[in-house]
Amino acid sequence: MLSSGAMTHVFISPHPDDAALSCGGLIASLRELGQNVTIISVFSGGPRAGNGLSEYQRAALGFGSKAIWPSTEAFRRDNIGADVPVPAGAAPWAADPERVALTQEYANTQARQFWQRAAWTRSANVTNIATPERPLADAVGGQGSGETIDFAAADAMTIRRAEDERYAFFMEASLIQLDLPDAVFRGYEGDEQLLGAVREDDPAPYELLRREILRLEPQIVYFPLAIGGHVDHQLCREVGLAMLDEGRQWVMPGPDLVGRTAFYEDFPYAWWHDFAGAADLAGTMALPPGVSLQARYCDIGEVLERKASGLTLYASQVVRLFESEQGMRDDLAGFHARVALAGGMRGFAERTWTPVRA
Ligand SMILES: [Zn+2]
Repeated sequence: MLSSGAMTHVFISPHPDDAALSCGGLIASLRELGQNVTIISVFSGGPRAGNGLSEYQRAALGFGSKAIWPSTEAFRRDNIGADVPVPAGAAPWAADPERVALTQEYANTQARQFWQRAAWTRSANVTNIATPERPLADAVGGQGSGETIDFAAADAMTIRRAEDERYAFFMEASLIQLDLPDAVFRGYEGDEQLLGAVREDDPAPYELLRREILRLEPQIVYFPLAIGGHVDHQLCREVGLAMLDEGRQWVMPGPDLVGRTAFYEDFPYAWWHDFAGAADLAGTMALPPGVSLQARYCDIGEVLERKASGLTLYASQVVRLFESEQGMRDDLAGFHARVALAGGMRGFAERTWTPVRA
């Protein structure tokens, strides 16, 4: 179901869980309002990710560009009329090889027209017989990829990507996984390096991320503030700041993203670091001249439970970050109550920082 006219909100997630952790309440609220949400997971790749795109990456990229998760609809089979004559005595929906083949052909054409790219071959399988080019839904490991995942043998990044896809499905958001190698696969070792300075030979993925963002024509694009200082978060913030600066380029004016950009507070790092808002931000962001940051509060009281439920889908991270699900819920409640208080609100809130012209 493509809804034209709805705004797209694009969340830049350095790792597969960051948008959910930091903006899960805002994402749930936007979806309730019928707004489209796309999450771009940037450093979602393992050591094998190189320059070329794998089959999986292509599928994930194409998938993310257009997918709006369909809403669930219940229907009664005996209400469905037959498109072709029904053999005497058969129910209108009963399988007949010739009609099944026709329906499959129709589904393939529809899928090609919808995706408008030959590389996309995952149309619905209406036969319930698995073939290599058309696996059955139950045999497909992740949403949006044709990859079957053996969880016992899967590497950490494969599991994290699968968790990400489940979260996107849960939130009815679309997902683009860029699969750039995580910092641990780019030679950063230990917390001191992972949370330290970005290396000179480790450039921000500016071109790639910029292209993905602009083709989505976002109403607002959300970047991490990089509180806590993880190098992958810093690199994403850097892309956001560079894109903000494009509007005033002399030779080739870029899109003006002031007013269409926001920076979010990285949870749980903002909680652990006692992030105090404007005071802590002063001087840490190289904003274009004449641009300053304004706090925006999103009341997430009604969707706090949904945010927490979404986070439980990142099972591999909940225990690592919070020790237990209860610990995660306690930290969520504590942090978002504190943010709400800072904004003079009751209950729970998430906060983003929007660049505005003075
Ligand atoms: Zn992260």
